[in-house]
Amino acid sequence: MSMAGPKRVAVLRLLWAPGPPVADESPQLQWSDEFFHEVFQASNGWSLRDYWLRASFGLLQLEFDFSVAHWWRFGDHSHAELKDNRNGILAAARQVVEGDNGVSLAGFDAVIAFVHAPPSNAGACGGGAVFDQGGSMAFFQHELGHVLGFEHSFGPLIPPPDEFGSLYNDPYCVMGYTGLQSHALPVPPAFASLTNINSGFWTSERRPAAASLYRRFTGTPDFVDSGWVTHAEPGARLWVAALSEVVTTAPVLAVLPLSIGHSQLTIEYRTQSADDAGVAPGVVIHSIGAHDVGVGRSEVDPPWFETVLPPVVGASADVLGVHLEVVTVSTGSPGGIEVQTSTQSTRTHIFNEGDQEGVSHTRLGRTSAPLPVTPVGVVADGAPHTHLGAGPRRLQ
Ligand SMILES: [Zn+2]
Repeated sequence: MSMAGPKRVAVLRLLWAPGPPVADESPQLQWSDEFFHEVFQASNGWSLRDYWLRASFGLLQLEFDFSVAHWWRFGDHSHAELKDNRNGILAAARQVVEGDNGVSLAGFDAVIAFVHAPPSNAGACGGGAVFDQGGSMAFFQHELGHVLGFEHSFGPLIPPPDEFGSLYNDPYCVMGYTGLQSHALPVPPAFASLTNINSGFWTSERRPAAASLYRRFTGTPDFVDSGWVTHAEPGARLWVAALSEVVTTAPVLAVLPLSIGHSQLTIEYRTQSADDAGVAPGVVIHSIGAHDVGVGRSEVDPPWFETVLPPVVGASADVLGVHLEVVTVSTGSPGGIEVQTSTQSTRTHIFNEGDQEGVSHTRLGRTSAPLPVTPVGVVADGAPHTHLGAGPRRLQ
């Protein structure tokens, strides 16, 4: 695999213009330079750089530079004026550095305005992000995902009054909701006495889904056509290794074409280990390009969580016209699962509804998640009915 080289990120640390006292602007709430280094850059296993390096199989290497602006003052921009204006904060930070002080940021791929004191409208925005000391490791992981080019992940619709609907509803990707299936990070002894504003600071997200990596690297020379990914047609029997357990290149994602436009179905295996320490183990199914993100969203064909099957032989689901059945579960190192796929036709479905005796005891049932909002693909005439024949579905 090729690698594009480090992603250089300038972290500009800035204090608001003097003004009325701000409750949290006490000196002890300014993290030390050492703490900044450990949180962002150090090779300590838990830094934001290490998380994304590991989660991207070495393809995305963040390189943070803290030397440009070390607690400079925003000229005349006060906390009250800018705290709710994310783009305004980043623009003002760039202005202080480039315009007022003549320091070019042209050599950086992204710029983070790290402002003090909190709170602020922190998060990613065009060209970088705004952070403050109110964030958590989990929050920074997600927002740096955007800085690295990841879109949000979507999932089954959560009906109103939920304001986000399908957006974020992927329990198996850091680019979904923050806090779903996350886990506690061990507090490094050196920082055990540090008081963080955010009581959940030492929390890590699950990994980015392999489907999310696939979407991120689509159109690049990396990942999509590498040894990490198996491409197959429905009907194939596919083996994927547990995403958080692999140490050398092995297929961690199977990708199948769907009959809906140019969309795809993906299969990955997630186990309760390493960066996935907080997840419920399962065979996780995403689609890419099968759903409409809705009005006002900028994501293009984002990864879309469809369902999760228990990692148990015989577990099965029908997703967007594809039947999936777990046929092997391996607890080796790395763990892996084998899934038999087949094309699910309308005829198949009707036939099997009256076919309970041979089926019901083997089907552990799909989860409550999959409610595709776009029409399930109609299988073309002549499509293979690979698994059917005259009898019930068999475990193989
Ligand atoms: Zn986001």
